[in-house]
Amino acid sequence: MKVKVIEEQCVGCGFCEGQCPEVFEVEDVSHVKVDKVADEYKNDVIEAIEGCPTSAIKEVE
Ligand code: SF4
Repeated sequence: MKVKVIEEQCVGCGFCEGQCPEVFEVEDVSHVKVDKVADEYKNDVIEAIEGCPTSAIKEVE
């Protein structure tokens, strides 16, 4: 699984980092720290995708 953050849509709320700090890091906006999401973090990342208030996180593969 790979994900990306659409920076123009991100409001920097920090929810994704709270769900999975191993994958997301929020400074002004969120960015993805890893090339590929490890299986152990998939569920956390899916929760971040579903919970992002602006739908800024997309699965890319
Ligand atoms: S949850 Fe969505 S809006 Fe909030 S920081 Fe993460 S990507 Fe940005």
